[in-house]
Parts: sequence; structure tokens; C-alpha cells
Amino acid sequence: MKHNPGSLEKEYCIGCGLCQSCFGEEKASVKLNDKGFYAPEFALTGEEYAALQSFCPVDVEPGCYSKQVWGERRSVCLGHAADETVRNTASSGGVLTAVCTYLLEQGLADGIIQLGDSEVALQKTTRISRSKEEILACAGSRYIAALPLEQVVQMLEANPADRFVIVGRPCDIRGMRAYLKLHEQRAQQVVCLLSFFCAGTPSVNASRRMIEKMGAADANITHVSYRGNGWPGYSTVKDDRGNAYTMNYEDSWGAILGRDIYRGCRFCYDGIGEEADIACGDAWYLDEQGKVTFDERPGRNVIFARTELGERLLRQAEAAGCIVCEAFDEPELDKMQPYQYVRKAQLRYKLLAMRTARRQIPAVDPGKLAWHKSRISPKDRARMYLGTLRRIWKKKI
Ligand SMILES: Cc1cc2nc3c(=O)[nH]c(=O)nc-3n(C[C@H](O)[C@H](O)[C@H](O)COP(=O)(O)OP(=O)(O)OC[C@H]3O[C@@H](n4cnc5c(N)ncnc54)[C@H](O)[C@@H]3O)c2cc1C
Ligand code: SF4
Ligand code: SF4
Repeated sequence: MKHNPGSLEKEYCIGCGLCQSCFGEEKASVKLNDKGFYAPEFALTGEEYAALQSFCPVDVEPGCYSKQVWGERRSVCLGHAADETVRNTASSGGVLTAVCTYLLEQGLADGIIQLGDSEVALQKTTRISRSKEEILACAGSRYIAALPLEQVVQMLEANPADRFVIVGRPCDIRGMRAYLKLHEQRAQQVVCLLSFFCAGTPSVNASRRMIEKMGAADANITHVSYRGNGWPGYSTVKDDRGNAYTMNYEDSWGAILGRDIYRGCRFCYDGIGEEADIACGDAWYLDEQGKVTFDERPGRNVIFARTELGERLLRQAEAAGCIVCEAFDEPELDKMQPYQYVRKAQLRYKLLAMRTARRQIPAVDPGKLAWHKSRISPKDRARMYLGTLRRIWKKKI
């Protein structure tokens, strides 16, 4: 379907920041809006708009429509960082942090481009980590809108002799991979792309609501973190008077943060890092009824080596004793990650409803999602399709 230049990207933008990094703020400015999400404004020529479409995650089709529930891979296993401090500090088992540290310490990379904290608690920022300590400081999940690729082109250009690992959400990695395909010189600077499972990025306002619910005062906050210090760990807020407030994972992600995510996240094809070299997720334990439990335990990742490169690096990190891996019976993941399991099936019916209503959709072909549909019942398919139509009709979409 034809659309006005920029309108599709504005509608489904998930705030990666790559357009701003490529074109500069005068031409592509991605700013925080009243709802606490980043949203773009464009002043692009026709040629520049065509360039935007070649890398914006909203415009770039999935590299592969895998028929497998959990995407293409060279291998999949369970695991965690061998270093207990990393394992405890990280979001799940700390494999991403451990692999980054391994690559840096072995001289295979000169820096890690990753999202970390800034001096403003609710403003997360992308940085280059060049030491084990800096990488560890970035460990953990940041459930808040930020611009993970905001400076990525500048970082690569300013350090032309350096090689980098880039860590991002699956959509960041899709955009980055597409960008690198067209920029050979920059591609040579990138050692590998790492990602994690992602159900959606919450707004900054959702964090504010979480802080309020904890009983802390927004104005005095000096620190906000969402995971870590155990698994799944607690959301933790600190203020300038030395008070600390915590909230468990189910109350923070489940009841507040996960309910206020980018609109684009509701139409996301890849929440499992299919275009990364290595992608990690939570390998939740199951109770006797086969339901996920969030009891505190030592962290554990499910680890997908998606490419030959990812597989090689992962095995090297394992052989060097940086990560501990164990075999995994993959069908268990269907129960460990129930939302990701049904996501593509649900997406097909949402997209079909959008098409029925003649609404523009991001670059995903619902026809190619047909083989995932059996993961939800005919009743749920109808509910997803009609529910989306109802929301369009009520102008909620
Ligand atoms: C927005 C979001 C949604 C998530 N949804 C799911 C889900 O549906 N299922 C699931 O299993 N897990 C989800 N997670 C958690 C994450 O996928 C797992 O904890 C994963 O196993 C992390 O692996 P790790 O322990 O090796 O990570 P760590 O070693 O802790 O490393 C995490 C890395 O991610 C980077 N990072 C953190 N937050 C962001 C961000 N917002 N944007 C870009 N980079 C970031 C950090 O800089 C760091 O490099 C989500 C995380 C986020 C940030
Ligand atoms: S998704 Fe990324 S590249 Fe696309 S408009 Fe949004 S910030 Fe720009
Ligand atoms: S849910 Fe999908 S679109 Fe949203 S932040 Fe995660 S990977 Fe990106």
C-alpha cells in the first residue's frame, strides 16, 4: 500500500535512533513525546527518504521468514556466565555480558556499543565500553524508551581503526544489519551483532508510574534499574536521600511496564533476535503444571547461535571458560516463553485486520506467517482479527 513519505515510519517507530545518527538532527530528529516514547520528525529529500527505507526497522522486511518457532540457528543451548558476579548482576544468566567481555579481553573487539545509564536516572544512553567494568555496568535489561543506535554511525566514524560488538534489541539489530549491508567500510568495523528476546519497549512514563507506585518521588530519583541482582531480580529505585525502593518482576514488568509499550512493538515480527549472531532470552523454570515461575534463582539464559560466526564465538567463549553451557530440549521453550511462542500467529491476524481496514502496515508479509497459525486456536485467531478491527473502529489503533 502506498503511503506518504515518513508516515509509516512515524506510525510504527520503535525509537532505535538510527535515522538521526545517519542524517543528523536537522533532517531526522527523534524526540521524546508526551506519552514518553521517542518519535521521529523528518525533513528528508526524496533520495534521503529512499535511503531511510533501506535501513529503518519499520521498512526492512525480515531477513528470513523461518518456519521454525524459534527461528534459524546453528545451535541452541542453556547457559550462564561462569563469573558469578556477572551472572548475578546481569538480566538473566549474563551470557551477553560474558561474551562481550571475552571478545574485548581476547583483543577480538576494541569496544562494545551498548545501552547503559546516564547521569539522569530515566535517560538511558548508548556508550562504548572498553573495559570489563564498563561492560558490567551496562548489564541488565533497561525496560524504558531510549535510542540504542542514536550515536552508532558517529561512534564508528570517529574510531575508524577500531572493531566493535553492537548489542541491541532485535529491531535495532535488523536496522543495523540492513545499514551495514549498504556500508561496507562500516561493516568491516563490526565484529558481531548481539541481541536478546524482547516483548516490547515500555515508555518513560511507564517507569514514572512504577516509581510512583513504589512510593518514591520522581524528582529525587538518582538510579533506576529493572533486573539484576538475582534472577529475575527486582526493579530498584534509589533517591538522593539514600532511600532504596524495590518491586518484583511480576509487579513491575507484568503489571506496569509491559502494558505501555511502543505501538510498533504490538506489530513486531521478531522478538527473538533472529538477525543477530547470538541471541539470549530468559530460560524460565516451569512448575509442575508446566507454567512459568518467577521464583528467585541463579540466572539462566537460553542461547541461540544464529550464524556460523555466532556459533564460533560462542564456542570460543565456552572453551575459554567464560560461559557455561548445557544441552537443551528445545520444545520446552514453547512453555518457557509462552508469549513469544504465539506472537507470529497473533501478528498474522492483526496484520490481516489492518489490511481489511486499508491501514498501512510495517514491512511484514502476513501471507508468509501462515505456517505459524496453528499455534493459536481458530477461536483465538478470530478474536485477534476481530479485536484488532474493533480497536481500529474505536480509533484506539
Ligand atoms: C525491552 C526489553 C524487553 C525484553 N523482553 C523479553 C522477553 O520477551 N523474553 C525474555 O526472555 N527476555 C526479555 N527481556 C530480557 C532479556 O532478553 C533477557 O534477560 C536476556 O536473557 C538477557 O541476556 P543476558 O542475561 O545475557 O543479558 P545481560 O548480560 O544483562 O546484557 C544485557 C545487554 O542488553 C543491553 N540492553 C539492556 N536494555 C536494553 C535496551 N532497552 N535496548 C538495547 N540494549 C539494551 C545492555 O546494554 C547489555 O549489553 C527483555 C529485555 C528488554 C530490555
Ligand atoms: S524506527 Fe529507528 S530509523 Fe525508523 S524512524 Fe524510528 S528511530 Fe528512525
Ligand atoms: S518488541 Fe520488537 S519492535 Fe518492540 S522493541 Fe522489542 S524487538 Fe523492537
